[in-house]
Amino acid sequence: MPISSDVLTQFNHLEKAGALDALGDLRKENRELERIITEATLLVSYTDVSSMLDYVIARFLDHFIPEFLGFLVHPPRGDALRQYCYRNLKETDETIPEQYYDLLKNYFERTPGRISFEQLVETFGKDTFGKDILTLNPEMVFPMFGIGGLYGIVFLGKKIVGGAYSELEQKYVDRIIRFLSVSMQNGLHYESSITEPKTGLFTHDYFVRRLDEAIARTKRKNTGAGILMLDVDHFKRFNDSWGHVTGDLVLVTLAGVLAHIVREEDCAARFGGEEFSILVADCSPVDLMMIAERIRNAVASIRIPAPDGSQELSVTVSIGARVIESTPGMTSLILIGDADKALYRSKNEGRNRSTLYHQGLLMRAMMKASK
Ligand code: GH3
Ligand code: MG
Ligand code: MG
Repeated sequence: MPISSDVLTQFNHLEKAGALDALGDLRKENRELERIITEATLLVSYTDVSSMLDYVIARFLDHFIPEFLGFLVHPPRGDALRQYCYRNLKETDETIPEQYYDLLKNYFERTPGRISFEQLVETFGKDTFGKDILTLNPEMVFPMFGIGGLYGIVFLGKKIVGGAYSELEQKYVDRIIRFLSVSMQNGLHYESSITEPKTGLFTHDYFVRRLDEAIARTKRKNTGAGILMLDVDHFKRFNDSWGHVTGDLVLVTLAGVLAHIVREEDCAARFGGEEFSILVADCSPVDLMMIAERIRNAVASIRIPAPDGSQELSVTVSIGARVIESTPGMTSLILIGDADKALYRSKNEGRNRSTLYHQGLLMRAMMKASK
């Protein structure tokens, strides 16, 4: 059908008035918004902070690579700040000096919204920021707001290529950081809900949940897995001799050893008091006992200075191990009960040893305690 001259005239008018360009821009903005909604939906579906950050890094890579990207956050539990830093979008050991956190927090609470680092220097004077932060060469600084107000600050460096950030790129970073702020705070809260404050290890409840999942997986796939129950030997005596503060130091150090030994797919928990439980994924009974012995030896080599500095103190642990079997009716309660029986066999046989539970018959660990 031929286009009437009327329509053509109107088209020319619209083009001259810039309406078509404006429409093009709106379409582009609309596509951007659609994209950010999709990204935000995915972002809020993650429960752990490292997956959220991995996702944001991957999205940044679609757009640009900043020389530096750093998140300085105040987790819901405790006073210590936590950092996540990236150089060229790869994790780095560089750190953001924490001394500026309160100053910037106060600033953002009065003036929410991104600011260039240059403007911050103008606002606070050039002597406020030292070499420690200047070497990171931040270009823009963003607040992270969540429930309860500001809980984090983001530092973004210059792009490695492509000159200054465009208006669209600045808007993009702004938006993704606003969504990240909400989901990261959720993630941090979730993390505190499944870990316990003294040792930072997982809670008993979370351990049982993971154990239930492992039982279900074993039934489906018949993959090997196991649990270890640990109990510190004569810990009451230790506390009585050296005090509960030194006792706590032992528990915290021991938890650090456990967290270091277990793999990411395993789960180290504080079962309660001076008792710990570990879920070991993908392992044979021999592997399970080797891990038990590795833990036992690592704990025995912990040295804690006595409060009076007179000597170095050490503790030992007794361990009970139980392989997760795919027999019908298997429950976490049964497994924990069996591992406990093996643990008490270790206690009765002199402590500082590992015992593997074996179908009604308790088999002593292959390795004898090396005292
Ligand atoms: P056993 O070798 O038979 O396990 O002896 P034990 O003394 O370790 O066992 P018992 O159950 O008699 O005592 C456990 C001790 O653990 C008593 C308690 O004070 C100590 N304990 C439990 N939780 C904590 C804690 O959070 N901090 C400190 N410092 N001690 C704790
Ligand atoms: Mg105990
Ligand atoms: Mg004990």
